[in-house]
Amino acid sequence: MSELRAVAVWRDGAAARVSPLEPVLSAFDQGLVRGDGVFESVAVLDGGTPHLAPHLARLSRSAGLLDLADPGEPVWRALLDAVLASWDAGTEGVVRLLLTRGLGEGEPPTAVALLAPVPAETLRQRQTGVSAVSLSLGVPADFRATAPWLLGGAKTLSYAVNMAAYRHAHRLGADDVVFTSLEGRVLEGPTSTVVWAAGGTLHTPPVETGILPGTTQARLFARAQADGWPTAVTPGTVDDLHAADAVWLVSGVRGAAAVHTLDGRVRGDGGLTARVQELLAR
Ligand code: PLP
Repeated sequence: MSELRAVAVWRDGAAARVSPLEPVLSAFDQGLVRGDGVFESVAVLDGGTPHLAPHLARLSRSAGLLDLADPGEPVWRALLDAVLASWDAGTEGVVRLLLTRGLGEGEPPTAVALLAPVPAETLRQRQTGVSAVSLSLGVPADFRATAPWLLGGAKTLSYAVNMAAYRHAHRLGADDVVFTSLEGRVLEGPTSTVVWAAGGTLHTPPVETGILPGTTQARLFARAQADGWPTAVTPGTVDDLHAADAVWLVSGVRGAAAVHTLDGRVRGDGGLTARVQELLAR
């Protein structure tokens, strides 16, 4: 498997390509010890990263929210070039850009790029959709906007809760999760933005709830508007999702996965998934 993966680390002012099996972090790295860092997952298509720019912008914003210095676009591009150098352009991949606090105490941050093929299960979900369950995050919808210490809107390395939500969903027989606020407002998936179609409009929840601003949702909405499909930022509930013509979980690597079952209720997609996927593919 290792030959299908690639790793590069920023060392001594340059991107160093290393074996995927070679250790690149100190065991004392704050990214490992505390999950103190930020990351991006970027789709690799035809051997390149066509949607890179908004990911780098969000990485920079996330770093700022954690008081981490973003090493800057030239560093990320050098790391990307290093891992993509011998990548098979016919394989769909995902490259993770990681920035951690390093050893802390004034030491430089750690910047790493990891490249791997997109898992088969992710590709399947793009084709056949997902079943999802709604799970409460237990936070009021308007709270995180006033609580910078909760890091709303930052893509931090602390995804243990998100992964636990997936495991919980799997135990319930579902593929995925729609997080809700304390009052039952729709937030986001553990690794996706929620989008639904209702009344001839595409909807997504407000980022003021502390959800991550999705780059795929933004691209979809820009292209939908250009195509004459209205879009709106709408506070919604799970009942709104049940009543919607279609619901998708969208993200850069998976694209748009139609939700075919929500909280055990089978639902349709109004035949709209093909149009959404076509807009994202343009
Ligand atoms: N929300 C969360 C919590 C995520 O982790 C992700 C992506 O991983 C998204 C939304 C979707 O973001 P994007 O479309 O930029 O991949």
